[in-house]
Amino acid sequence: MALLIGLLSTVTVMPLVAQPTYAPNSTAMLYVSCVGWPGGNPVYPCFLIITSGSYAVTSNGHTRSGSYHPTPIPSSAFRPSSNGTQVHSYGFILDAPQTYIWLKAGERADVPPNAPTDIRRMIGHDEYLSACAQICSSYSYRVGWTDIYWVEEKPEWIHVGQTPQHQNSNSYNHWMTSQAAYGIWYTAKAFLLRFPSQGKIAVNDMALPYGGLFDIAGQWEPSHWNHYRGKAVDVAVGSGAYGIPDSNANTFVDTCVLTGGAMYGQVETTPLHIHCEWY
Ligand SMILES: [Zn+2]
Repeated sequence: MALLIGLLSTVTVMPLVAQPTYAPNSTAMLYVSCVGWPGGNPVYPCFLIITSGSYAVTSNGHTRSGSYHPTPIPSSAFRPSSNGTQVHSYGFILDAPQTYIWLKAGERADVPPNAPTDIRRMIGHDEYLSACAQICSSYSYRVGWTDIYWVEEKPEWIHVGQTPQHQNSNSYNHWMTSQAAYGIWYTAKAFLLRFPSQGKIAVNDMALPYGGLFDIAGQWEPSHWNHYRGKAVDVAVGSGAYGIPDSNANTFVDTCVLTGGAMYGQVETTPLHIHCEWY
């Protein structure tokens, strides 16, 4: 017996669809069948165990396997019926050609012991549902926002801020919404026109791919919290490469708001840097 699990709406091409991205807190209705092999026709009754999981490896720059930074992210919950209890594993006898489950993307509320209900932890990871009869099949998806894009280096800035928590690469910490990305770009252009000797600025953390908790302490605890939605950027101040002089930091903040259209900006300490954030 083989087994299928897939999107109800794409049932005929289901095994071939690319991994979808589900927005946090959205619900996806999926179907599950036991099918005979060869032939692919539904076979029932069959005993099924459905389990949700998340990959214990790095995905989308968010996690890292191994003892240094293990993946503490449990899986999304699902309901075996439209109004049933949320579970992470469910075994039952399927006595019909197919059944449906309701996946709540990013819902981890009932997972002990960490119960990381903070929504910022729920975003950005690749996860899966596996369904096992005599053999198992799985369905991969990702929880995240699809309006967060890679922001490349430009003549106006260099990338800084790579950390071991996020693969020692500046490829993972420079993602933003288009509105925020254009905001910091207009800000940088205006600021460099006024202070041409600055040359460039150094842009530090924005957001991770698909958003979500940005781990800066290696503990996967909420911090750096306002970088979870792709609407904020940190800019270097001080003596590092292309750091903005202390004396000009407040002017940069003003430029973020007045020229870049930011919701607010401020000079933050420990470490000293500028934070600008958009709506
Ligand atoms: Zn910040």
